[in-house]
Amino acid sequence: MLKIGSHVSFSDKGLQTAAKEAMTYGSSTFMIYTGAPQNTRRKPIESLYIEEGKALMNTAGIEEIVVHAPYIVNLGSYKEDTFELGVNFLQEEIRRTDYIGVRNIVLHPGAYTDKDAEFGIARIAEGLNEVLAGTSNTNVNIALETMAGKGTEIGRSFEEIAAIMDKVTYNERLTVCMDTCHMHDAGYDLVDDLDGVLEQFDRTVGLDRVAVVHINDSKNPRGAGKDRHAPIGAGWLGQSAISNIVHHEALKGRPFILETPWIGKEDKTVRPMYEVEIALLRGEVRNRFGEDFLEDVERLHHFFGKQEIDSRDFILNTWTLLKNDAKAKKADPREPMERLYDMIIAEGVLSRELAEEQVNQRLTTWFAGKSFLAQA
Ligand SMILES: [Zn+2]
Repeated sequence: MLKIGSHVSFSDKGLQTAAKEAMTYGSSTFMIYTGAPQNTRRKPIESLYIEEGKALMNTAGIEEIVVHAPYIVNLGSYKEDTFELGVNFLQEEIRRTDYIGVRNIVLHPGAYTDKDAEFGIARIAEGLNEVLAGTSNTNVNIALETMAGKGTEIGRSFEEIAAIMDKVTYNERLTVCMDTCHMHDAGYDLVDDLDGVLEQFDRTVGLDRVAVVHINDSKNPRGAGKDRHAPIGAGWLGQSAISNIVHHEALKGRPFILETPWIGKEDKTVRPMYEVEIALLRGEVRNRFGEDFLEDVERLHHFFGKQEIDSRDFILNTWTLLKNDAKAKKADPREPMERLYDMIIAEGVLSRELAEEQVNQRLTTWFAGKSFLAQA
């Protein structure tokens, strides 16, 4: 079975809360931060509702989940206190991950800040050597994430990941988390040359190292080095490219994790698109959302078709405009999804009874195109 899910909350009742949320999206895997990603405050292990969470996972057929290390950990730092904090906290996180029974903890390799990439790579390897040596009694692997190349972050190329691994003694405990948005932003062509990119990864790092895949669309064109996630279909990668990745033979069996932004006009109405994104990638939209939902999507095809609005063109043109034309952006800062949502509402295309979230789910399905509708 395709393992696909999203980042979910681990607050309140820990694993039980996380599993419950994942089940509402129809997930077959999920990812958690064991506490706030930006700090080191953590609840005691006994209050994480592990047994309750595992019981729920069992009923949902969820076998494998993923932990993400907090992004305050920077093993690339030359500052002794930052580095030591990173090493120590990562070890604690690995013990917690082991206790929950999870095999892979995703880690942003680190940033070299005022030094250079060579320093960063050596420093990260030094940190990983310490961390792995201190947690040799666990069954946890560290999955180094492929990064977008924002600022001074390391991991923006496959070569950098390989260089870190080369310098780590017990590197059999190092795996990789591919992130589609990051790889695209770093310059890898996942849209037109997926096979080529995967072959390149295989030669440089080895596909057997891939343990997790983050599936996110991108608000920026390839090579932008930005790292701004978009909902699936609402960015430069598009539904087909993401679908090809999720169903690629070389990545079979890995957990695919959505970290796509929540959508809504106001803070209090933002909702994730996870449920529909998962259903689309599984080809289970009809099962999950029903006939009426598909009729609504058909209506969107008709409505936008009449105005000759193509979803891909509209999305890419709007992102390009927002990126390159400061004046136009100031006059109308709305992102593509919001613009399309507003058109639907203004023209009363769908029932007024529908909540914003429900309209956006239909819009997300429209992005996938007519061919997806046929096989939904
Ligand atoms: Zn990450």
